[in-house]
Amino acid sequence: MITLRTFLPLVAAAWLTTPLYAQVKKLRVGPAKAPVRQEALFHDAHFHLTNYIQEGLTAKYYLDSIMGDKIGRSTLFGIPLQQQWSHRVTGKNAPTYYLESDAPLYYYSFTDAFIAMQYRSLGPEQQKRLDPMITGFNPTDMYAADHIRRVLLTFPGVFSGVGEFSIHKEFVSSKVSGDVASLTDPALDRIMEFCGEAGLVVILHNDIDNPFPKPGAPNYLDAMKELARRHPNTTIIWAHVGVGRVVHPIDHHADAIEAMLADPTLKNLYFDISWDETAKYIVGSDSALARTVRVLERYPDRILFGTDNVAPATQEKHLKVYRMYVPLWKALTPSTSHAVRLGNYERLFDDARGKVRAWEAAHVGRPMPIPPPSPASGAGGR
Ligand SMILES: [Zn+2]
Repeated sequence: MITLRTFLPLVAAAWLTTPLYAQVKKLRVGPAKAPVRQEALFHDAHFHLTNYIQEGLTAKYYLDSIMGDKIGRSTLFGIPLQQQWSHRVTGKNAPTYYLESDAPLYYYSFTDAFIAMQYRSLGPEQQKRLDPMITGFNPTDMYAADHIRRVLLTFPGVFSGVGEFSIHKEFVSSKVSGDVASLTDPALDRIMEFCGEAGLVVILHNDIDNPFPKPGAPNYLDAMKELARRHPNTTIIWAHVGVGRVVHPIDHHADAIEAMLADPTLKNLYFDISWDETAKYIVGSDSALARTVRVLERYPDRILFGTDNVAPATQEKHLKVYRMYVPLWKALTPSTSHAVRLGNYERLFDDARGKVRAWEAAHVGRPMPIPPPSPASGAGGR
């Protein structure tokens, strides 16, 4: 007869004689997560597969040749704006960047279908490493939120978020055809509201100020805070901590960022330190580096690393921004460095994936309401 006294040693003996790998395997229960490579340097919270004329890499090339075993996971988006090639303006010179022509930029919605089809061209294990984002909408249009909804319904199982899209961006905002974007636009509120409902992470580019501002309070700081406060259920990542190529950090930039991180009404606001231009400011002086380290150590779970690279040709070029930040990685405690490079990405994007898939499960395949007749449909009938 087996009593407790004889049973416990048997269990212990079984445990000791079971190979270690089998014991570990038994302990690994729970939902399958995206495979994370131990050797990954970082997950990329900010990556553009295509450029301002919608050219770039295939997702497969990005995974195999650029991410390789150095980058664990990555966001995946194009650029919502297309630089028009106006023969009247630059003749035979075909611009590939917005600073190469005075011709306007326009919103290019097909980017979302392109990104979705690139993602769908991959196998399931490869797909787990990517988080595609929706960008092809005009943020001054009250119908923009309907576009985002339509993308989810057309390509379920693909997208984790929205962005990077821009509201105030040096040299770009004033070049876009149509209305100038604004943080106070009700169309932007509709976008944020829907992203909160569907669980989509938002990556927003918004310069904190203009390139050559009047002295005083920065033009776009307060409105950005108000936007985040109006949408407490929407996770917002403020790209490049609000700086631009010419839009320098404002006086006491780190203090302004820290005040937002400390503000209990802005718990949904995160920041990324992507872009070599951002890195230039942060590692540019000992004092800037020390201020950044102080903020990151106090709020390690609110800041993410990304490259902001656009269709890089080689892995070597792609790693440049990460390497620029080596002084920062060395100055941080290991746990904060891990959170900024890997942990925060996993938490935010795993959460978004779960919520967006649940939203899709509740909405895909539902009968669409038939719109009321329009004058052009001929169905109104008099
Ligand atoms: Zn970007």
